[in-house]
Amino acid sequence: MSNDFETNCQDADTLLKRFRSATLPHFINGKADPGRSGKTFDSLTPVDNSIIGEVAAGNGDDIDAACQAAEAAFAGWKALPGKERKALMHKVADGIVARARDIALVESYDSGQAIRFMSKAAIRGAANFRFFGDLAETARDGQSLPADEHINYTLRQPIGPVGVITPWNTPFMLSTWKIAPALAAGCTVVHKPAEWSPYTAMMLSEIAHEAGLPDGVLNCVQGMGEDAGKTLTEHPAIKAIAFVGETTTGSHIMRQGAATLKRVHFELGGKNPVIVFEDADLDRALDAVVFMIYSLNGERCTSSSRLLIQESIRDEFNEKLAARVRNLKVGHPLDPATEVGPLVHDRHFQKVCSYFDIATKDGAKIAAGGKAAPIDGKGNYVQPTLFVGARNDMRVAQQEIFGPVLTSISFKDEAEAINIANDIEYGLAGYVWTNDLSRGHRMAHAIDAGMIWVNSENNRHLPAPFGGMKSSGIGRDGGDYSFEFYMETKNICVALGTHRVPQLGNS
Ligand code: NAD
Repeated sequence: MSNDFETNCQDADTLLKRFRSATLPHFINGKADPGRSGKTFDSLTPVDNSIIGEVAAGNGDDIDAACQAAEAAFAGWKALPGKERKALMHKVADGIVARARDIALVESYDSGQAIRFMSKAAIRGAANFRFFGDLAETARDGQSLPADEHINYTLRQPIGPVGVITPWNTPFMLSTWKIAPALAAGCTVVHKPAEWSPYTAMMLSEIAHEAGLPDGVLNCVQGMGEDAGKTLTEHPAIKAIAFVGETTTGSHIMRQGAATLKRVHFELGGKNPVIVFEDADLDRALDAVVFMIYSLNGERCTSSSRLLIQESIRDEFNEKLAARVRNLKVGHPLDPATEVGPLVHDRHFQKVCSYFDIATKDGAKIAAGGKAAPIDGKGNYVQPTLFVGARNDMRVAQQEIFGPVLTSISFKDEAEAINIANDIEYGLAGYVWTNDLSRGHRMAHAIDAGMIWVNSENNRHLPAPFGGMKSSGIGRDGGDYSFEFYMETKNICVALGTHRVPQLGNS
C-alpha cells in the first residue's frame, strides 16, 4: 500500500465516522432534519459491500416540508439583488474548494469512482458555482423588440421552487451542475440525491448553509426514487424538475408531473459512438477511446461505449486497444494508482456482468476482460472489457451497459458509419476522429446527437449547450441555456401613446 493510499484510507475513515455513527438526515429549511417516518435504509460501499451507515428514507411528508421551505424562501431569494446572489455563490464555491479533498474521499468510497477523477470532480463543482454565480446579475436580461407604435421588451424571472433529482454517477459534480444555475436564476431548490450515493449531497447542503445561503433556499431530502423522488415530482409548489438519470425514469417523471404541469429538463441515457477513420491521428484516437469509456468506471452518460472502427484499420486498432484495456489498473477507489474502481452497487455490478454472457450469446468476441474481478473475494470490481466483431443490432451495441465495457463494430465507409451511429434509440454524444476537415464537419452534421466532439474526448466548456436528442433527453444545460429552463420569459408591451385604440359602443 503506497503512503498516499494509506493516508487516503485513514482520512476517509475519519470523515466517515460521523456517517457510521448516526443516521444521515435530510437538510430542510437550514437544518439537519431526521425525517418524519423514522424509516432508514443502509448505504453500502462498493469496495466490499459493507454498510457505511444508515440514511433517512424520505417520504411524502419530508418532501412536503422541504417544498414548503423552498416556497417560503422563494420571494426573498428572488428579490435578492443578483450581485448578492453572486457573492453568496462564490462563498459556496470557496467552501467547496476548502472541503474538496473531503468531498472526493467520501464520494470515492461511497460510489466506487477512482480518487484521481473524484478530486477533479469536486473542484468542478466549485467551478459550476462560480460560473453560474457570475451570471446571476445578468440572468434576467432580455431583448428589446420595438414595433411601430409600441415598444416590446422581455425580461426573465425565476420560475419558482424547483426539484433537482440526480443519479449516483459523479453525484456531487452533477448536482452542482443543476443546483448552481437554479440558484443563480433566483429559484429555490429541493434536491433528491440518488439512494446509492447519499453523502456528498449532505456535505453540499452544509457548505451552502455555512456560506450564508438563507434557510430554505437549498433543501435536500434523501430517499428512494419511487417514494421521495416521486412525491417531489408531484408536489404543487414545485414548478419544474431538473432530472438526470435513466431514460425509463424520465418517462415516469413526465407522467408523474403531468397533473401539476411540471416543466421538465431531462439528461438521460446514452450509447455514444466514437467513430475512428483510417486517416485519423490513431495514437490520439486510441488515447481518447480508452479514456472515454474506462475513466469513471464507464459510469458516465457521455462515455463512448460504441467504437465504430474503419475496416481497413480494424484489426490493428483493436489489438492495440485490447492491450491497453488489459493494462488498466483496477483497484480500490482511494488508491491514487487506480484507474477503474468498483461499480457503485451490487445490482449494477450484476447487470454489467450479465453482458459478458449476452455478448458471446449474440456472437461477439471478448478481446479483453469479460469477468468479475473481486479483490480478496470482495467488492463490485469487473475487468475492463472489450467486445470485438460485434454488429450494431446486438444487445451490447444497443443497450446502455454503463460500465467499463466497450463494443467494437467495424464499418466500410462514411455512409455506413453514419447509419450505424444513428441506428440507436439514444442521441446524447458522438465523437469523430479524422484528419479530413470536411469529413469531420459532414459527420458532425449527420450524427443525431446533442453534442459532437471532433478529434477530441469529452471536453466541457461551461457556456456551451449540454444535452441529448431522442431518448437521451429534453432540453439543454450550460450558460444561458440553463436559464431558459429555470426562468420564465415575460414580454412587456408599452404603447408610445400614438396608436389608435379600437372603439366599441361609441357610435
Ligand atoms: P435512475 O434513473 O435510476 O435514478 C436517478 C434518480 O432518479 C435517483 O435519484 C432516483 O432515486 C430517482 N428516481 C428513480 N425513480 C424515480 C421516480 N419514479 N420519480 C422520481 N425520481 C425517481 O438513474 P441512475 O441509475 O441513478 O443513473 C444512471 C443513469 O443516469 C444512466 O442511464 C445515465 O446515462 C444517466 N445519466 C445521464 C446524464 C446526462 O447528462 N444525459 C448524466 C449522468 C447520468
